Amino acid sequence: MSCNHDCSSCGQKCSKADFLEKPHELTRVKKIIGIVSGKGGVGKSLVTSMMAVLAQRNGLKVAVLDGDVTGPSIPKVFGLTEKAMGTEQGILPVTTKMGIEVMSLNLLLENDTDPVVWRGPVIAGMVKQFWTDVIWKDIDIMFIDMPPGTGDVPLTVFQSIPIDGVIVVSTPQQLVGMIVEKAVKMAGMMDIPVLGLGENMSYVRCDKCGHEIKIFGESRVDEVAQAHGIEKTARIPFDPDLARVCDAGLMELFEGDYLDSFVSLLDD
Ligand code: ADP
Repeated sequence: MSCNHDCSSCGQKCSKADFLEKPHELTRVKKIIGIVSGKGGVGKSLVTSMMAVLAQRNGLKVAVLDGDVTGPSIPKVFGLTEKAMGTEQGILPVTTKMGIEVMSLNLLLENDTDPVVWRGPVIAGMVKQFWTDVIWKDIDIMFIDMPPGTGDVPLTVFQSIPIDGVIVVSTPQQLVGMIVEKAVKMAGMMDIPVLGLGENMSYVRCDKCGHEIKIFGESRVDEVAQAHGIEKTARIPFDPDLARVCDAGLMELFEGDYLDSFVSLLDD
């Protein structure tokens, strides 16, 4: 009853199931993948939306739960401007043009430029409610844009929602430091497998000769993945077209194949 989610100072033998929140009674979700990063601003939302599009193109019924409550960018990349509606039974997600179901704080706020100045437990509570109060009907795969970092908020979300695995997103500089390691260890503490490691802004392709310009030197994504037993890696270049489709809300029209190495993660 008095659990503060800090297992390091507690002798109770809890199981993972003790913390899981019950979804809405009409919710059916077959698989959940969380997208995490050690820090904000590295392309976590970008990878979340690209994975959702990849899954949708592979014929799956896809959902995105935007858990990045203080910086929700999922509605924008899908060009969603309408607000989420509720019925007596619960809250309904908003559907993108291609049929991806989305829930995000920006779909509930009257004015989506209002800052969210909430403390951690309130933020974590909001993400939990996106899981418990939203009706996610017949979803094959759900992607959760996790709250950034490795603190209390992502930890609570990890404990509350039955996440099957995570994809860690990083920039080349972070692969050199300890930030990625922290994200990998957090997943390990929760017994959640790290399915893939994505290196964003890995390089820039010269639009004259096609040469890969490695701004931050040789990629270390494979080496870091191997060190942590992560099987799948992907490299995403800094791509002005990608920035353009994000800004225009047209992510579903983007043709790049940067995450194709993650396609097997969509399997049951
Ligand atoms: P995070 O979710 O980690 O905070 P975002 O995915 O929102 O980061 O990315 C931050 C910004 O950088 C977005 O405006 C996005 O369009 C841009 N961006 C991220 N990765 C790339 C990339 N590889 N190429 C071009 N723009 C990118």
